[in-house]
Amino acid sequence: KQIRTNDIRTENSPLQIFVKAKKKINDIFLEIDDYVDDTVRFIDSLKDDHKIIAQEEVQKVEAYKDKVQGIRYVLKRDHMKVAFFGRTSNGKSTVINAMLRDKILPSGIGHTTNCFLQVEGSDGEEPYLMTEGSDIKQPVQSVGQLGHALCKEKLCESNLVRIFWPKSKCLLLRDDVVFVDSPGVDVTPNLDEWIDKHCLDADVFVLVANAESTLMLAEKNFFHKVSTKLSKPNIFILNNRWDASASEPEFLDEVRAQHQDRAVDFLARELRVYNTKDAEERVFFVSAKETLQARLKEQKGESAHSKSTAKHENIYEMTNYSDWLNFSLGGALAEGFQNRYFEFQDFERKFEECISKSAVKTKFEQHTQRGKHISTEIRQTLNEILDRTQKMKAEQMNAQKEVRDRLNFTEQQLILLTQEMKDKIHRMVEDVEQRVSKALNE
Ligand code: GDP
Repeated sequence: KQIRTNDIRTENSPLQIFVKAKKKINDIFLEIDDYVDDTVRFIDSLKDDHKIIAQEEVQKVEAYKDKVQGIRYVLKRDHMKVAFFGRTSNGKSTVINAMLRDKILPSGIGHTTNCFLQVEGSDGEEPYLMTEGSDIKQPVQSVGQLGHALCKEKLCESNLVRIFWPKSKCLLLRDDVVFVDSPGVDVTPNLDEWIDKHCLDADVFVLVANAESTLMLAEKNFFHKVSTKLSKPNIFILNNRWDASASEPEFLDEVRAQHQDRAVDFLARELRVYNTKDAEERVFFVSAKETLQARLKEQKGESAHSKSTAKHENIYEMTNYSDWLNFSLGGALAEGFQNRYFEFQDFERKFEECISKSAVKTKFEQHTQRGKHISTEIRQTLNEILDRTQKMKAEQMNAQKEVRDRLNFTEQQLILLTQEMKDKIHRMVEDVEQRVSKALNE
């Protein structure tokens, strides 16, 4: 039951908070872009009339066009970023592979990660990699070949190699999660440069610790540095290799409690990033290797399910956990696998909730403020132009009224004058008539 509900990711994944928010904010900025476009066109049609629009207003509105385009460009590329740290060989690459459900990063002896590796989704069907400072897309056929390609490059430990993996092959990548694997914190003294280059925009940090030993100073120091540069970073601690505990079951609870206390103490008291209760929710005991193995088998089972799953439609139809376990792993796993596997899933769920909420806040809050600012400023400019034209209209109406009044007055005067003239002429005619008739009589 658990496997069905937890393993098949649905649209209910917490990552959808980010995915949906990103779609929404992109749509809103498309509207803002249209609004700015309309305004620029409108202002352009009036810009020659300096009484209506000032030159500075034209420039101001035109500048918003570039700003909005810039924000839209950044928004399209915004993603959720998780960075993995820990000592060499604690299993960082294996954890990433387990989460991605595929052997993407090389791991194990001979494959020490000696630079930063970023795995991100690509739209094409073929994986490729790009090294820092180069635009060349190098095809990646297999993990072995990737390991080889990385050895071949002369890479410095703070360099970044970006691995583009088809989104169609992995749901986390489709949902815009970007994974960053780092060289072991025990390897380099160059932590400041690391943090400045690769960590300032990380939404979540995962410390992959080794459950077979205690947290080391190098690991702690790194996070002390991170928390001086970022206020309250989101940190998860994975006590990896917990499968080793199966060989000493009598000490299991004791060892777990000890690791748990130390990890909680580190997060709550030393770093002060969480209170004790929240810190407890951030510490997990897992086996990345087992989880990866199980998931790889599970995927194979899905495509070749006919023999072993004859009585089921597919692997997800198995409601009995031991059916599935026997099928997928052939009983080859250490005691307690089920708990470790569920704990890994629990980590993933909490991680997804945390990263999507954090990314929405850190990535979109600023853009939202800027979007609001731009639309308010444009509305204000348009309001000022409207006020100005209304004033001009009122002035014109006033001026027209004055002319009309004057015309009315003149008209009245003319009427009066005409009447007077008429009377005068009338009188003159009468006078002439009288005089003429008088002269005729005489
Ligand atoms: P990284 O250097 O931190 O990236 O470590 P890797 O992922 O390369 O792992 C180093 C070795 O530890 C590899 O051989 C892995 O197979 C092994 N490993 C990783 N996770 C586990 C685990 O949970 N249990 C066990 N037993 N081995 C593991």
